[in-house]
This record gives sequence, structure tokens and C-alpha cells, in this order.
Amino acid sequence: MPGSDVATKTHCPYCALQCGMEIGPGLAISPRTDIPANASGALCQKGWTAGELLTNGERLTAPLLHGEPVDWDVALDYVAYRLSAIRAEHGPDAVAVFGGGGLTNEKAYTLGKFARVALGTSQIDYNGRFCMSSAAAASIRAFGLDRGMPFPITDLDDADVVMIAGGNVAETMPPFVRHLDGPRLIVIDPRRTQTAKLAWLHLQPTPGTDLALALGLLHLAIADGLADEEYVAARTTGFDEVRTSLSAWWPERVERVTGVPVHHMRQAVRALAAVDKAYILTGRGAEQHAKGTDTVTAFINLALALGLPGRQGSGYGCVTGQGNGQGGREHGQKADQLPGYRKIDDPAAREHVARVWGIPAEDIPGPGRSAYELLDALGTPEGPKALMLFGSNPVISAPAAEHVAERIGALDLLVVCDFVMSETAALADVVFPVTQWAEESGTMTNLEGRVLLRRRAATPPEGVRSDLDVLAALARRLGHTFETEPARVFDELRRASAGGPADYSGITYERIAGETGVFWPCPSPEHPGTPRPFLDRFAHPDGRARFVPVQHRPAAEEPDEDYPLYLSTGRVLAHYQSGAQTRRIAPLVQAAPEPYVELHPDLAEQLDISAGDVVRVSSRRGEAKAAARISDAIRRDTVFMPFHWEGANRLTNPALDPTSRMPEFKVCAVRVERDS
Ligand code: SF4
Repeated sequence: MPGSDVATKTHCPYCALQCGMEIGPGLAISPRTDIPANASGALCQKGWTAGELLTNGERLTAPLLHGEPVDWDVALDYVAYRLSAIRAEHGPDAVAVFGGGGLTNEKAYTLGKFARVALGTSQIDYNGRFCMSSAAAASIRAFGLDRGMPFPITDLDDADVVMIAGGNVAETMPPFVRHLDGPRLIVIDPRRTQTAKLAWLHLQPTPGTDLALALGLLHLAIADGLADEEYVAARTTGFDEVRTSLSAWWPERVERVTGVPVHHMRQAVRALAAVDKAYILTGRGAEQHAKGTDTVTAFINLALALGLPGRQGSGYGCVTGQGNGQGGREHGQKADQLPGYRKIDDPAAREHVARVWGIPAEDIPGPGRSAYELLDALGTPEGPKALMLFGSNPVISAPAAEHVAERIGALDLLVVCDFVMSETAALADVVFPVTQWAEESGTMTNLEGRVLLRRRAATPPEGVRSDLDVLAALARRLGHTFETEPARVFDELRRASAGGPADYSGITYERIAGETGVFWPCPSPEHPGTPRPFLDRFAHPDGRARFVPVQHRPAAEEPDEDYPLYLSTGRVLAHYQSGAQTRRIAPLVQAAPEPYVELHPDLAEQLDISAGDVVRVSSRRGEAKAAARISDAIRRDTVFMPFHWEGANRLTNPALDPTSRMPEFKVCAVRVERDS
């Protein structure tokens, strides 16, 4: 796969840190030092080996129709014909679209437009619903706007104290840790993770009890007189209701529920309150629960009580996970959303976007099903009969994955765009082989809300086309004209986002290149961008942040006699998401060749399990087998499995958060046995 003779400045294909890198002759990767996220020159192992994605021997290079290679026109004609027939027979909502949080902004935007304009369906959502949706919902509720980290990552360099609830950045995005060298680190995690090992204080709650812990921390902050009364009065509303709602969460009760000693809670709160520069961050560990929105809300309430958000040098932020997890949730591939982070049921938003799309506002469908609800409905009498899938591998990454595979199997038509044969692509009627990452240009919005430019650095193999080409070719067959050039798509996105909460209208490819990224909102070419959006006011009409009273409740599924242990799932350094990319990179496979089940030595002894034994983990939804890894870094009542391989998500619970519709990936009840 030829690269360029000169080094091309671009970004990593994987996580939301979007480390800057150069791709030189021979596809050699080197870190850039002009991108603040990894200005230290760091990349993780995934980043260093990313060039191997471009030369991977398992690359798809011809469209597949029922497993057989065919010409592009044959595949496109077939898909357009089948989509039209299914729509004609069952109506437009019989066709669904599922996107991904790794797609560029241009693709996410075009996917949303394709669904609403070319297919006329409301049935579109994306896998970011499984990642950041609870933090997004909580931020919108509290601040009126969801911009994951509403401050540059380099602000953390000068922090005195940083609390991370349910985030393992040392493993998932190691260069992030360079920004935590200075502050005292407080980590909340049921496991002693690589990040927890760096902590000054590690709080190790029972899985599913982060919400109770946050309530206990806030109770202590108020009881000990640590709330910033002046800030609360000047910049927030709802404090009194929250204070009243905390009456049942006295510290000793929280200790009983969470297992975290009161003196550790008090240490944490005092450390946060004693300094000028303190941050509270949440990750998937706190968010991926059926009460994830309320859990994040409880941490935001704590941050507000301590006067942290909206001041330079302190704040609350969500550590977004997927590469374009932030941008991917802004431009219309969500079931309830239009570009610019507009709401699809807002008449003014519909009018604006309809003008850009050249259609009547009433032709834009209303909100559709959320990601898991969409997957769960596939092939049912009321559900979609056809699915088009982009940048996602749900038979590995969705909860209750066996059930999801069954639903996918019940479809009349599955179309997948991918560059390798993922486990889901292997089930497809039609697979379109598409360009990847460094073979195309496009923008990504990283975890800071900084819009970045990924430049094309390598020539794609013969036979592949971009997702934008596929969408435009299908749209043409369905009677519509779509742009295919990323820069032109971005110009259209800018117009569609203008005036919305995530306003990109002042951002251009040239500005991004010249300014090493531009923070949204950026409503005009002269506007400098907005690194810290809440310094003067929050985004609610009155400019104030909202305290929101929330209450703890148990996990949707607690351990019992049949399934006596908690299962928690997560990531390992060498792999990314469903592993469709990283499980094809030799050094990464060597570093982490297979899944495992981590369990405490006491539990292992009780179950007569030794390190390396194959163990069977069962839940009410399925079972998985993997080798045992014995470690005292985990609680006795909990086992852990990474989710990059088939197995872990056969077990997980699809119970949904009522606000964000996030499934409860992080906790379910399982039984563990040595496999005979
Ligand atoms: S995977 Fe994330 S942390 Fe690692 S190099 Fe890529 S962007 Fe950076």
C-alpha cells in the first residue's frame, strides 16, 4: 500500500484522544508534537502500530453479494433495488441505519442525511449510544450543552487534584496520563487498574454503586461546610432540592452500600475542596449503567457544590472513548438529533436543516429507536427488515450479543460497509469494501471538543471506495444527489450546524490546519473558537447550571443464588472497541492474544480455579469461556472480562438507562465455573 514520499500530518485511527501523528515514507508512524493531547511525543502501542492497518492482508477489495465478489454497480443496484422494495412493501421505517462513533464528522453527517432524505426513515442510531450517551445526557441536563471536556486537556497539567470516576486512561489512552503527572489523583474504580495504581487515593466501590458514592461525597461536602456558597448562589439553581434529597445518604449508610470507608470519602472530598484547581472526570465505568445519567449527574452536583465548572483551572468533564465519540454525537446519526446538536423535534431546527437539505421540514422523520432498541427490533413484525451498518460491529460490541446476532439473522437484508470482514460483516447479504482512516480525509472532534483534520496519507487499494461514495451512489439510485468530497461535505455540515449548539460554521479545513484544531462552538470565520464554553455562563437560557436531585438504586441485575458474582467489562491497552481492527495487527495480538477472566485469589481458591484454567462464565443471557487470570487487583465478589473478543457481551445486560438509553454494560450477575 503506497504511502507518500513526504510525511503527512494526521491523527491516530483509534481513540478520542486523537493523538497527532505523521505518516512518512514506507508508512512509518511518528508522533507530532504540535497537537496538545500528545505534545509530549507519546503514542500508545495501538498508535505506533497503526500503519499496519494499511497493509493488512485481510483487506476487503471487492463488494461481496452473498459472499461472492461482484462489480460495484451490481452490488449498488442490488442494494438500491432491495431497499426500495422493502420500503414499498413495509414503509420507510422498515429500513434502518446504524453508524459508529469512529466515523468522521463528514460521514456521520452524511449518514444522518442519507437516512432522513434518501431513505425517509426515522430508524437511525449509532454505537456511541453505548459509550458516551449517559454523560452527554447529564451534561445537557446540568449545563444545557454536552461538550465532553469543556476545557483543553492541557488545563489538567496545572491541576492540584483530579478525580476520575470509572475511567482507566492509563490503559485505554496512555498519553493522557502525561497530563496527570502534576495533580494528586483520586480514582474511583472497583478494580485496582493501571490508573488506580497511579492514584494518591483509590476508592474501590462495589460495582453499580458509584451513584451512592457520589451522593455520599456530596453529603459530606455539605455537612463539612465545604460547599462554595457564593458560587452556588451566583451560577446555579436547584441546590436546596439537592441538599434535601441527600438526607438519606449519610456517610455510614454509603459505606455500607458501596464498601468505601467513610474516612476515604472524607479524604477525597477534602482534597477536592482544599485546592483552587480541581477537576472531576467521569468515564465509562460510571456511565455504562441503567442509572448512568443519574450517576454522572451526582458527580456533576458534587462538582457544582464545590464551585468547579465554568471557572478556568477547574471543572467537570467526560473522558470520551471512541475516536470521534464527540463529533459523532453532534451531526445527526443519533435517533433524536439533527446536525449541530439540534433536536429533531424542534420545529426551528427542522426548518433550518430542511433548508440546507432542500426538502420541506415536514419530510424530515421524527425521532427513532435508540441503538439497542433498534437492534432488538430488527426482523420483528413491527421492526426494520433491512439494516445498513457503517463503522460498527454489534455482534461483538452490543449487550446480549447472541440475541443481537439472532435479530440480525432475522433481517431480509443486511448491508455492511467495512474494510475488513468483521464478525457482523460476515453475516451480511452485501459488504461494501471501503477506505479507512489514512486513505481519506475528514474531520474528527476529540475529547476536548477540538475539531481536527485527518489528512489522506496513503493510496487506497484498487477496488475500494469511501463510505461517502457508497452513500452518494445509493442516494443517486434513490433519486438524490449527495456530495462525495469530504471538504465539500464539511462545508455543507458547517451550514447545517450554523446557529445550533455545536456550531461549526466558522471552522474550515484551512483553519484547522493552521491552528492545530478549532474548538466548537465557532459561529463565524472570525470567531476564535471556544476552548472553555462555560466561563461566563452556562448554556441554559438563564445562564445558570442546574443541580438535579437523583437517588441511588441497585443495579438492574444484582447477584443471587444462581448467579452469585458481579461481572464488569472493559478494555485492555492493546485493543480498541470490538477488536475488528486491532485483532488483525500482529504486535497487538502478541501483546494481548485472547480474552481472559480476571478473578481474586480467594474466589479462585473457593471455585478451585488456577491461573490459566479455562473457565465458563454464565449469565441469564449466555455464556463465555476464557482463561483465568488471578489477581488481587479485583474485588472478591467481582470478575472482569475485556470486551474486545466474542464472549463478554454475550453476558452483559441490555437494561437501559431511562434517559440516555445506555445499556448496563458495567454490571450484571454471573456464575463462574472451571470448564471440565
Ligand atoms: S489509541 Fe488513543 S492514546 Fe493510543 S495513540 Fe491512538 S489516539 Fe493516542
